[in-house]
Amino acid sequence: MIKINSLIIGQGIAGTMVAYMLQQKGISFMVLDSGKTNSASRVAAGMFSAISGKRKSFDEEIFRKQKFAVETFKQLEKLLGVNFLYEETIYNIIHTVQEKSETLNRTKDEKFNLQIELNPLPIENIKAEFGAIAIKNSGWVNCELMLDTYRSYLTSKNSFSIVDFKYDELEIRNGSFYYKDFEAMNIIFCEGYQLQKNPFFENENIIPCKGDIIELKHLNHGNKKILKRNGCFVIPTNDKTVKTGSTYLWNNSDELPNSSDVEELKNKVNDILSNDFKIIAHQSAIRPTTKTREVIAKQHSVFKNMFMLNGLGTKGIIQAPYYANYISELISNKN
Ligand SMILES: Cc1cc2nc3c(=O)[nH]c(=O)nc-3n(C[C@H](O)[C@H](O)[C@H](O)COP(=O)(O)OP(=O)(O)OC[C@H]3O[C@@H](n4cnc5c(N)ncnc54)[C@H](O)[C@@H]3O)c2cc1C
Repeated sequence: MIKINSLIIGQGIAGTMVAYMLQQKGISFMVLDSGKTNSASRVAAGMFSAISGKRKSFDEEIFRKQKFAVETFKQLEKLLGVNFLYEETIYNIIHTVQEKSETLNRTKDEKFNLQIELNPLPIENIKAEFGAIAIKNSGWVNCELMLDTYRSYLTSKNSFSIVDFKYDELEIRNGSFYYKDFEAMNIIFCEGYQLQKNPFFENENIIPCKGDIIELKHLNHGNKKILKRNGCFVIPTNDKTVKTGSTYLWNNSDELPNSSDVEELKNKVNDILSNDFKIIAHQSAIRPTTKTREVIAKQHSVFKNMFMLNGLGTKGIIQAPYYANYISELISNKN
């Protein structure tokens, strides 16, 4: 038996962040992941901004969590020696005359004003007939790169293994968990929408929300800004490709990409890019969302050394570090 403090099930952004927070506290752990290539975290666009939605609402609480997330990603970049965090402005194109007047109205709010720049310089080859605003303090994370490099790092420390965790093989004896060769004092479940299969948290209601991302071959619009219009974003990934998304298909857990799901998305991209583009890849994945949109970061009601982090919804990048830190605090205080 290999004795460890914590066993983490799932290495999406939730499991990755829990592992990293435990690592920072010097707590030993093992991460098991089934090796799924189309998890939400691997397909995600990785965008973050405290201004969101049609109304462009600014959420101070989210802004605070975002600052913590950005600091965490910078530290992790340093540890791994890779660059996966891009702090970039969002060039938010105004879609209609009505949106233009609503946006001007929003500028009466001082807190909103601090986050934006009115009338940014136009960008070549971009359609913006009603103008745009620039949203500051935003950006994106190459989540797949972050997950892959941290996985390699953990593998080199014998702290990661590809295993499809079987719930009925978990033994609980004298307050410890036994699974295959491991004996752990704590177990943390971070399985994304697959929590639905977890018998220990069967009362938690995760609503699957399918999303699509398409990658396009397109001559870059000349700078690294993220473009956004009418709920559709375009992120330049290099000089010749951009990724764009995404769709929201609620209560849908069919993981396969379906070309008819992205027709509307293609029309929205046409409203942004004036140059031709060609689809070179299409991926889809399932977001783990909750009815109240609240993240579930909690201790089991009976097994006090069993935890879960899930329900990151559409804001996994901003929420995961904050709630993973919360779980790691519960574990370290218990120790
Ligand atoms: C198309 C799309 C675009 C998105 N864009 C953004 C965005 O721009 N910004 C943003 O903040 N968020 C975005 N999201 C949301 C974000 O991706 C999710 O909130 C986040 O990835 C959820 O992370 P997770 O770790 O909880 O779950 P997941 O990423 O699903 O990870 C769960 C992991 O657990 C593993 N697992 C499950 N069951 C088992 C088992 N029994 N044994 C072993 N391993 C298991 C899986 O293999 C997987 O690796 C997007 C999502 C999608 C689908």
